Amino acid sequence: MSKSVVLIGYPLKHSVSPAFQQAAFDSCGLEVRYEKWETEAERLAEAVNKLRQPSMLGANVTIPCKEGIIPLLDELSDTAVRIGAVNTVVNRDGRLMGFNTDVEGFTTALCEDGGFAFRNKRAVLLGAGGVARAVMFALLNEEIRSVTVFNRSIERGRRLVSSFAREAGRIELLALPWTELETSSALQDSDLLVNCTSIGMRYGATEGESPLRAELIPHGALVYDLVYNPEETPFLREAKRVGAKTLGGLSMLVYQGAASFELWTGKKGPVDIMLKSAREALE
Ligand code: NDP
Repeated sequence: MSKSVVLIGYPLKHSVSPAFQQAAFDSCGLEVRYEKWETEAERLAEAVNKLRQPSMLGANVTIPCKEGIIPLLDELSDTAVRIGAVNTVVNRDGRLMGFNTDVEGFTTALCEDGGFAFRNKRAVLLGAGGVARAVMFALLNEEIRSVTVFNRSIERGRRLVSSFAREAGRIELLALPWTELETSSALQDSDLLVNCTSIGMRYGATEGESPLRAELIPHGALVYDLVYNPEETPFLREAKRVGAKTLGGLSMLVYQGAASFELWTGKKGPVDIMLKSAREALE
């Protein structure tokens, strides 16, 4: 029997996951179809129930359903519980298990493609939304020295920091208002600067913009933009111009997708094929 995996969220028009996941299934000779199920939050329970059918291997979950899906599932991984968001569902004989593979995607991309060594490094996050929670969790699992979060809404930044205070142990955590980017020594002293905001995202309200002007970009940091569409964002362009090392978000997207693929199929995701298809879909 042919099986299906679905993408749940809204809107899904611009998602590249269907392209690269389908390429992965096809290249492994698996009879699996990856379908888009455009689902607004109020229809989520109905969609989740359909995932229990024997023909469903599982799902990817995206905005705005990543948090709302949690009470509808039967079991969660520890990581999904700590982050408070699920991006992958696996159907095990009618029982739905929720996972979050963004953490693995972020760490793999940072180590393998960014060549980053965490020990004793100072990280700065721009943004405190859903993906920032996964990034914070990933960084606290490593031997990082400090994480400073700048967010437009300072309350949300503080909430992010306080909710990870227990995991932080000796790692210094600090939330600062966005306006302090202009004067902050934390930004200038950082070894890793991660854009976790949606600023610069194609089709978004801030398309073509960078979260920081060039003069504020620390030259010695690895500048990592999680925005992957376009592949070279205005932020990355500016960072390159001032001589900083850079990393774009596309490889994280593919690594999180490969981790989801492995959860559904038990096989390693073919990362090279997935990356090539993701690039083609973006073009
Ligand atoms: P959320 O909506 O949860 O968070 C958005 C964040 O961006 C908030 O911190 C928000 O600040 C901030 N923000 C938005 N607009 C502005 C602005 N004009 N000025 C300052 N801050 C702003 O989104 P996610 O965390 O889910 O996603 C963020 C980005 O990360 C998206 O572009 C997404 O595509 C990308 N992403 C990439 C992944 C990858 O694999 N590469 C995986 C997941 C996400 P405030 O709290 O003040 O509103």
